[in-house]
Amino acid sequence: MNLKDYIADVPDFPEKGIIFRDISPLMADGEAYQHATNEIVAYAKEKGAEMIVGPEARGFIVGCPVAYEMGIGFAPARKKGKLPRETVEVNYGLEYGSDTLQLHKDAIKKGQKVLVCDDLLATGGTIASTIKLIESLGGEVVGTAFIVELKDLHGRDKIEGYDILTLVEY
Ligand code: IMP
Repeated sequence: MNLKDYIADVPDFPEKGIIFRDISPLMADGEAYQHATNEIVAYAKEKGAEMIVGPEARGFIVGCPVAYEMGIGFAPARKKGKLPRETVEVNYGLEYGSDTLQLHKDAIKKGQKVLVCDDLLATGGTIASTIKLIESLGGEVVGTAFIVELKDLHGRDKIEGYDILTLVEY
C-alpha cells in the first residue's frame, strides 16, 4: 500500500506559498489508517515503548491507536492552558512569535521508555519541545514516529541522536 496516495496536497494553506500535507484522507480510509498504525506499532514494539506521548492535536490521532493496540498508556502534550492539573512546560519559537507546550507532571514515570508520535515532521520544533518535556520528567525517549516528513525543512537536525520512523517523505 502506498500511503502517499492518501495524503492530500493543499496549496496555499494556511498561507500563500505553503503546500499543506493533509493526512485526513488517510484517517478516513480504514485500511490505510490501520496500515500506518500497524507500522508504528511494530516500531514501538521494537523500541520497547512503555508509553506514548503525542502533541496536540494530530499527535493524538496518530499516537492513541498505537497505545491502544499495544495496551500501554497515552499522554497528550497540549498547548498552554488546556491541561487541568499541575504541568511542566516548554516555550518554543515559531516563524512568528512563540508557543508553549505542556505535559501533566505525573504523565511520565522516571525511567519510562517513551515513543513520541505526530502526524508530520517539519522544522522539528514541536518534536524537540515534546522530547524536552518528557526528559524533564525523567522519561527516556526511545523513538519518534511520524506519518509524513518534509525533508527540506531539516527537522531531523533538531533531534539528532534520536531514532526516527517516517512513513512518507516529501
Ligand atoms: P514542526 O514543529 O515545524 O516540525 O511542525 C510540525 C507540527 O506542525 C506538527 O504538529 C504538524 O501537525 C504541524 N504541521 C506543520 N506543517 C504541516 C503540514 O504540512 N501538514 C500537517 N501538519 C503540519
